[in-house]
Amino acid sequence: MSSHSPITREWFDQVMVLNYAPAAIIPVRGEGSRLWDQEGRDYIDFAGGIAVTGLGHAHPQLLAALTEQAQKLWHVSNVLTNEPALKLARRLCDLTFAERVFFANSGAEANEAALKLARKYASDHFGADKHEIIAFTQSFHGRTLFTVTVGGQPKYTQGFEPLPPGVTHVPFNDLDAFATVISDRTCAVIVEPVQGEGGVTCATPEFLQGLRELCDRHQALLIFDEVQCGNGRSGHLYAYMAYGVTPDILATAKGLGGGFPISAMLTTTAIAESLNVGSHGTTYGGNPLGCAVANAVLDLISDPELLAGVQRKHEVFMAGLRRINEQFHLFRELRGMGLLLGCELIETWRGRSREFIKAALDEGLLVLVAGPDVIRLAPSLIIPDELIEEGLQRLERAIARLLSPTAA
Ligand SMILES: *Cc1c(COP(=O)(O)O)cnc(C)c1O
Repeated sequence: MSSHSPITREWFDQVMVLNYAPAAIIPVRGEGSRLWDQEGRDYIDFAGGIAVTGLGHAHPQLLAALTEQAQKLWHVSNVLTNEPALKLARRLCDLTFAERVFFANSGAEANEAALKLARKYASDHFGADKHEIIAFTQSFHGRTLFTVTVGGQPKYTQGFEPLPPGVTHVPFNDLDAFATVISDRTCAVIVEPVQGEGGVTCATPEFLQGLRELCDRHQALLIFDEVQCGNGRSGHLYAYMAYGVTPDILATAKGLGGGFPISAMLTTTAIAESLNVGSHGTTYGGNPLGCAVANAVLDLISDPELLAGVQRKHEVFMAGLRRINEQFHLFRELRGMGLLLGCELIETWRGRSREFIKAALDEGLLVLVAGPDVIRLAPSLIIPDELIEEGLQRLERAIARLLSPTAA
């Protein structure tokens, strides 16, 4: 097979590392909340590239920002600074609790920076004994060895041992369990305000408030991983704002670039001091292209009207999903925040969430899963109501077909 023959899905199995199992179709174009594959077939996008394309595909303002910057300057490295990065950092500080920003390229890298900063800060101020990190079961923080160790899903660390030491896991939303393990040796606690990969589970307000109080009591830093739930997805610019609980460090990525890889770690001046010159870095972090796009994203997602729209669209989705469930009795719980939605399957369908990806695809709809028992939706934050309805109709047909294969 030469590189000039038509590109097909079979190529994947021939030349790619098989750590993914992508669907049979190859999308070639996207606009708003629709994608088209090589055959010209259309798909409604309830997946958003895993909660990334929060403004849909080919948004005119993002396209303009990217192409305008592309004609000026792509990359200078961190030996120099650049205007888009400084502007983006300034605006993130204006819009959030942050006083300092570190840019990277992925969620894992933002969390890696957060965890390294917490270790360094504790080492600077309290000594080497204060190094323990507490995280929560079912959490997901990325795939570097450190972040995968901190993540609370053992299936992702198996075979990669030895793992970095000093990490403890306790059940999510269980403040009593947490209270028994936090101590003066704890340097940081990392939590997703809304667990994404782990099943779309929202933290309770009491849980996050309790973490904040106990972290303060033990002088541990509280890290919020808002890689997935941040950037407007919760219906608030960042989910911590909805909870009224402010972290010491916040990591975000996914929606920040709307599809261009960029991530950020936000923190305070006092904490940021521990990452002094030379202590941490990345070649591409804060590159002009990514920052120019993220500035355009931030323009749009910080608009209160857009955020109110996310909360309204949440209700549209929930009403539609409840309607589907009245018909099929497939979901034991519908949950989530803003446009991060989880449909937990009933007992008899447990472990089979992936079958719905395929069934939906056959009906022209992209959905996600969050573990084996939950169908996850993470559409564009500005998906038109008509497309929500059309997508839900496709979902309904997919479910009908899956539940009684001979009928449909
Ligand atoms: C996706 C995700 C990550 C990892 O982000 P990458 O860009 O894949 O490295 C980390 N934390 C959360 C909560 C995520 O959803």
